[in-house]
Amino acid sequence: MTISYTAPGRVNLIGEHTDYNGGYALPIALPQRITATFTPAQIETLTVVSDRAEDSVRIDVDTVPGDVTGWGAYPAGVVWALRQAGHPVSGGTMSLTSDLPIGSGLSSSAALECAVLGALAGAAGLELDRIEAARIAQRAENDYVGAPTGLLDQLASLFGEISTALLIDFRDVAVHPVEFDPDAAGFTLLLIDSRAPHAHVDGEYAARRASCERAAADLGVASLREVQHLGAEALASVKDPVDARRARHVLTENERVLDFVAALGELDFAAAGKLMTASHASMRDDFEITTAHIDLLADTAVAAGAVGARMTGGGFGGCVIALVPTDQTVTVVDAVRKAAVGAGYDEPELSRVYAALGAGAGR
Ligand code: ADP
Ligand code: MG
Repeated sequence: MTISYTAPGRVNLIGEHTDYNGGYALPIALPQRITATFTPAQIETLTVVSDRAEDSVRIDVDTVPGDVTGWGAYPAGVVWALRQAGHPVSGGTMSLTSDLPIGSGLSSSAALECAVLGALAGAAGLELDRIEAARIAQRAENDYVGAPTGLLDQLASLFGEISTALLIDFRDVAVHPVEFDPDAAGFTLLLIDSRAPHAHVDGEYAARRASCERAAADLGVASLREVQHLGAEALASVKDPVDARRARHVLTENERVLDFVAALGELDFAAAGKLMTASHASMRDDFEITTAHIDLLADTAVAAGAVGARMTGGGFGGCVIALVPTDQTVTVVDAVRKAAVGAGYDEPELSRVYAALGAGAGR
């Protein structure tokens, strides 16, 4: 028996750093994905190879955090988290193939976890609810790999649908599909990969999380979501001005997600674009997670004709997305390339992306 399971990367259209604050986000699944092909055997080790890594990894099915490091920690973490959740895991051999950029902020890590999880679960005949699967994959990343990430990436990979964005409400972890087909309205979603290596991301991420937690504690609530209805004025009693700015990003960003969904409902892509640009400004000024390089890419896209552009992903590098009238795509692509190279940065990689199908068996 051989089981094949594939899981895509994701782009978050809007709603950054809102997931761990019980807020809203709006990702799409990407066409680029990771496929896991698994042949189970009556043995207690899982051997994994990847077309994107030189060495193979051997994982004991009773592995515990700390056993496996490097890229193998992701599949090992999934084995561990599945067993922690009370599910059986078989040994055997697994091969991974991927056309997803690694470390670009498109969540190759979640795609990897979800692909491995789907293949292992399929071989064991498990019918995992997608929310439960997302939590298991997240647990692998948080507690085995040691990266403190939210649930957004896994949900996007597992729930993706063609021409559909996913409005995620992290308060009750509910996923609502929203039609997203800019191409039909004459707009292109352009992905601009800065190819900037992002350093110190984990420390900065943890610092932002801690700021948000302190702000919520100052306000006497468990999560910033609980003061969402009061607006940014509610933040007056946050003691530290930096924490207050971080929290303001979260509250205003949640509002922008809902406004973006409303704009999509009216097929008003110009309005949606403005919200993307406003989101970028909030990440730059209030949350302070952009870089001069990323700002240049986003600003140049808008100056050259995009209706909006923003950094997507955790920050400090990675990708920018721009919503561009399709007949102006060439102009925007040229301008962004020229600006980046002219400023001495690596030449960015630009591609058109769209909302694609989420994870599934043998796709
Ligand atoms: P992102 O999720 O934005 O791509 P991360 O740093 O979260 O960036 O995850 C990247 C890590 O995931 C890589 O360093 C590697 O350990 C692992 N990874 C992703 N894709 C693959 C793959 N196809 N094969 C092996 N490891 C992978
Ligand atoms: Mg990741």
